[in-house]
Amino acid sequence: MFVTVPGDAPDSRRRGPAGRPERVSGGARGVVPPGSTAPVVGVLALQGDVAEHLRALRAAGSRPVPVRRPAELDEVAGLVIPGGESSTMWKLAVIFDLMEPMRKRLASGMPAFGSCAGMIMLADRVVDGVEGQETLGAIDMVVRRNAFGRQVDSFESDVTLTGIGGPPFRAVFIRAPWVEQVGDHVEIIATESRTGRIVAVRQGPALATAFHPELTPDLRIHKLFVEMVRERS
Ligand code: GLN
Repeated sequence: MFVTVPGDAPDSRRRGPAGRPERVSGGARGVVPPGSTAPVVGVLALQGDVAEHLRALRAAGSRPVPVRRPAELDEVAGLVIPGGESSTMWKLAVIFDLMEPMRKRLASGMPAFGSCAGMIMLADRVVDGVEGQETLGAIDMVVRRNAFGRQVDSFESDVTLTGIGGPPFRAVFIRAPWVEQVGDHVEIIATESRTGRIVAVRQGPALATAFHPELTPDLRIHKLFVEMVRERS
């Protein structure tokens, strides 16, 4: 199990498949004045560092809501898939009947951002997944799971982000994947300097990082994503 990410979701793990999640009100929605253009952005809230993405998305000017059910997915203009454990997330997404609804929304152009386990979820193909592990296929790429090593091999590294201004991004890698192959339409946004491996990509409305921008105060990636959602909603 993935245990070191802070806030590994007391919030997201409290309810079982039969639990009735409460709608987030006030806290998540109340920050942005009514009538503003802050888009509603969902965070897949089955497992992982959901709370950190909700916080970063709020700070980046969107109205974030947790998504655990297909009806909640229907209400969002974009979706973040958090860091955590992709094999667990996949299994829970099957139990919660979310895989097909997410695939459909992604195929119809819903903006999505995945960090680490979320990058694996968005990939077309995964190497070193657990047996039968399925992904959502939003980005034409092959991702190698746990490529940078095991939990003890977690590290931080400054990465330069193409198309995002400012200084290098302090990137936190935790049992991170890397991208082994990309299709012609995938834009490479960042490579990791020590290994030269691809660690951030974009294909149209889908964005993915092998690292965890939600664990650092730098909001540039979340702001980019909120802008992508705003443009398409
Ligand atoms: N190794 C995890 C996986 O396979 C990803 C780790 C993370 O999200 N920090 O999903």
